[in-house]
Amino acid sequence: MCDAMLGGLARWLRAAGYDAWFDVHARDGELVRRALEEHRWLLTSDSGILERFAVSEGLVRCVFVPPGLSTIQQLSHVMRALDLKLRDSRCMDCGGELIEAAAVEVEGQVPKRVQDLGVRFYRCAGCAKVYWRGTHWESIQERLRHAMQLAGTGTRPGDAPARKSDEGPKS
Ligand SMILES: [Zn+2]
Repeated sequence: MCDAMLGGLARWLRAAGYDAWFDVHARDGELVRRALEEHRWLLTSDSGILERFAVSEGLVRCVFVPPGLSTIQQLSHVMRALDLKLRDSRCMDCGGELIEAAAVEVEGQVPKRVQDLGVRFYRCAGCAKVYWRGTHWESIQERLRHAMQLAGTGTRPGDAPARKSDEGPKS
């Protein structure tokens, strides 16, 4: 569960395969309550949240993300703190699982030139967004591996997250 300052981190945690929750409008109290109810780790750059009772008493598990880090540095910090490995990517927009889809199922939803590449397609089980593997996916992979290297945690080389469409990750 990412606080309001960590929207970019949430997107990259999803790319790394984790179900990151983020809502820019969520208030501190809601973050803490949901983290408690849903047994989520709370990721925050807000030292005020650390003073909330449930957090200070250890009822909510929390990772403090130091301010001033780039998104990839934030990701690396969290991967190291929680000893996370790269998993199959989730949807960077909503965190939904990506389900492989046949080319014919995504016809009309991806550019013709992509259809012709013969790449793998995926559809988000949450928001139905279509993803595919390609050059943009490769660049996301590269940045994820970079974050892993910074974190010093392991990777699963055989597993590659799906690629998002042409719009870049908003971090
Ligand atoms: Zn989605």
